[in-house]
Amino acid sequence: MPLSREKHQPFWLSTTGGCGSIQLSRTLRGVIKVSRFITRMAAASMQTMPSALSREYLVERQCRNVVTELCRLGVLQNDAVTFDPELPTWKQEGIATFSMATYTKIFLQFPADKVFWNTSYQFFLYADPKERGYYPIWQSIDGPGFLEGSGILFVTVVQEQSHRVEKQTDEQTKEEVLAVLRDMFGAENVPEPTAFMYPRWSLEPWAYGSYSNWPPGTTLEMHQNLRANVGRLYFAGEATSSEYYGFLQGAWFEGQAAGSLIAGCLAGYCTGETKYEALHGTTNYSEFDLANGWQVTSFQTNGL
Ligand SMILES: Cc1cc2nc3c(=O)[nH]c(=O)nc-3n(C[C@H](O)[C@H](O)[C@H](O)COP(=O)(O)OP(=O)(O)OC[C@H]3O[C@@H](n4cnc5c(N)ncnc54)[C@H](O)[C@@H]3O)c2cc1C
Repeated sequence: MPLSREKHQPFWLSTTGGCGSIQLSRTLRGVIKVSRFITRMAAASMQTMPSALSREYLVERQCRNVVTELCRLGVLQNDAVTFDPELPTWKQEGIATFSMATYTKIFLQFPADKVFWNTSYQFFLYADPKERGYYPIWQSIDGPGFLEGSGILFVTVVQEQSHRVEKQTDEQTKEEVLAVLRDMFGAENVPEPTAFMYPRWSLEPWAYGSYSNWPPGTTLEMHQNLRANVGRLYFAGEATSSEYYGFLQGAWFEGQAAGSLIAGCLAGYCTGETKYEALHGTTNYSEFDLANGWQVTSFQTNGL
């Protein structure tokens, strides 16, 4: 009997904050936490799940391997995890096809009595005369509804600027950022910050980027290969969502979808997901369906 994702909604397994922590709900009533950094996935975890095994055995002995979601595209692309045997070609190509974008927020805190910007505004824009994307978007957290009196400002940079900044020391970046602020607000008005920090998403071995992106020319079939399971190994996270990639809800829905399939396996019905060992160039209209992770119509009619 084929399993549909809808049919197994009650058996959902959901991610709680990503693939590091996986909650099995309703039927299994347990929480599996991946407390160690995964560096190797061995053959036993990728074979087809034997449907005759009892649920208890699977949960205790196998489920950890089954449900481990290697969902971070950046982690997969950087070979942080070794697969033994290697992942099949269609899967490796699916992983290599997509890209990771980087988005960096740089935070500064100033003494509360020396705040120099108008805290009734949230956004400030800077257009550098020479370099595109050089510290362009500033946001105040010191304002109504946020952290009033905190003296915190942050600036966002993306992609090339992110990669450049993430390779720099804090001191180098702070110097650049303060020079921009002093250009915007006047050198005499901008004091030294009391605190300064920013995450380096592109360098974190558990992230290697902020979120996934589809390069030009990618198709839904290619994405389905990124998404599809390899035997008993399932993949879920924002990158596997065809509709909400890059967003938190993409990770949430994909965790539920993979959990639904895994719960089906635990109940004795393993179907797995659609995959394409040979790609068809483009994606046919008929392929925009649940089997390819497409849950809503792409031809919205607004009732007309
Ligand atoms: C700066 C920034 C701003 C964002 N803003 C928004 C926004 O406004 N709205 C929005 O919807 N989304 C936003 N996102 C995107 C959103 O955070 C992600 O889409 C979402 O967190 C992805 O969830 P995930 O479960 O796929 O991966 P993650 O949340 O990254 O979870 C992956 C987990 O796996 C763990 N892990 C990685 N490698 C291993 C390993 N080898 N072994 C064991 N554990 C491992 C990691 O430690 C992590 O806990 C933003 C992201 C960034 C970086």
